[in-house]
Amino acid sequence: MTWIKPDKKTKKNWKIQDIDKSLKKSLEKKRYTHTLGVANTAACLAMCHNGDINKAYLAGLLHDNAKCLSNKKKLSICKKAGLPVSKIEEKNPELLHAKVGSYLAMVEYNIADNDILNAICYHTTGRPDMSLLEKIVFIADYMEPNRKQIPGLETIRAMAFKDLDDTLLLILENTLNYIKKKDNQSDLDPMTQKTYEYYLSLKSKK
Ligand code: FE
Ligand code: FE
Repeated sequence: MTWIKPDKKTKKNWKIQDIDKSLKKSLEKKRYTHTLGVANTAACLAMCHNGDINKAYLAGLLHDNAKCLSNKKKLSICKKAGLPVSKIEEKNPELLHAKVGSYLAMVEYNIADNDILNAICYHTTGRPDMSLLEKIVFIADYMEPNRKQIPGLETIRAMAFKDLDDTLLLILENTLNYIKKKDNQSDLDPMTQKTYEYYLSLKSKK
């Protein structure tokens, strides 16, 4: 995704505490708790893997900022902003919260850092050849402490502090298996499969 930088002159310069306050207001309670979990987990993963701790916290904090918007609202933001909406996304506007969240991070919260915007944009599907920050947010979203206990989560949490690519692969595998088991597979974004195949072939080359 190519992000156009917002006009700084007309935009408020957000402090992290103000972003936190704004999200506390706009997100449902459970989602806000999850958000703080992702921000803190992302910061810990950044510490462990030599990433930028502040960026990881900020990206984690903003990753689900559009999650509590209605589907109608998400679709109308895409239309207004000229963001592409695929057939699958049109049927499942829920999938749009990452893309819309990334857009709102840029225009509402004045985030001009492309790496943060991409980490928000790809936090549900991943994408081939992710940056360190993208990997951290993707993994933190899956393993933060408030996530309900799903099989294999303990392994993933331990692995995340050792090898990010192996962790990504395991999460993607679990996600694909989970979706494939469901009767309705319409919420599978093809990007998830693409990301999985990329990291699988990367592992075989190692
Ligand atoms: Fe999300
Ligand atoms: Fe999330």
